[in-house]
Amino acid sequence: MNTKVLKFGGTSLRSESTRKYAYRHIVEALKTHKVIVVVSAMGRYPDSYATDTLLSLGSEKLSKEEKAKLVSVGEQLSSLKVCSELLEMGIKAYSLSFQGSGIITDNNYEYAKVIKLDNKEIKSKLNEYDVIVVGGFIGISYDKKVTTLGRGGSDYSAVLFANMLGLKEVDIYTDVDGVYDCDPKLSEFAIKYDKLTYDEMLNMKARVLHDRCVNFAREHQIRIYLKGTFSNSSGTIIEG
Ligand code: ASP
Ligand code: MG
Repeated sequence: MNTKVLKFGGTSLRSESTRKYAYRHIVEALKTHKVIVVVSAMGRYPDSYATDTLLSLGSEKLSKEEKAKLVSVGEQLSSLKVCSELLEMGIKAYSLSFQGSGIITDNNYEYAKVIKLDNKEIKSKLNEYDVIVVGGFIGISYDKKVTTLGRGGSDYSAVLFANMLGLKEVDIYTDVDGVYDCDPKLSEFAIKYDKLTYDEMLNMKARVLHDRCVNFAREHQIRIYLKGTFSNSSGTIIEG
């Protein structure tokens, strides 16, 4: 069976009621595909397990290595929570930890550079399970320490997993249903783009996707479907 990558941001995973919308998209994809679900940490500050909340628990004196350990808890918890709820729904899901995810980086803990993608573990788990839930934003250094890919980096993880599996598209779900010419929360006249090129996306003022994600997608020609978790609209396609 073919595989799809679906990525969900923190605001989509904030609560049981928002996660239900995310699960609808997963269940829909499962009709035709096995699914890699890439998750961000749940919610935003001051939600208990959000990235900035976790960071606020630690002293500024922590080393970068220690801060990566602290902050990575957000994505690890989120993947276990989502996996738990999918299992409760009767879905054959497995939570893949950063040790097995195959995103091998240098040890620049805050903004690690990916040096190798290893698909052995994820492929073998895909044979056994229908859904693999994995925390975005984190990698593992060649000396087995947890690293992070930069704030907002779980978008980047989504395209890394797609590439690892030879896939040419990803669905990135967020709380806005695509890219607009101005903030749709502030203006009722905001117009949604149906399609953008990678370059147009990189030149947008609003940072809807992580630059590393768009650059990698351009380099490997991975089409990005940017969609709203809470809507059924077709979103914005980024390609070209
Ligand atoms: N949780 C991380 C952050 O807030 C990564 C992400 O959401 O993409 O930066
Ligand atoms: Mg995010």
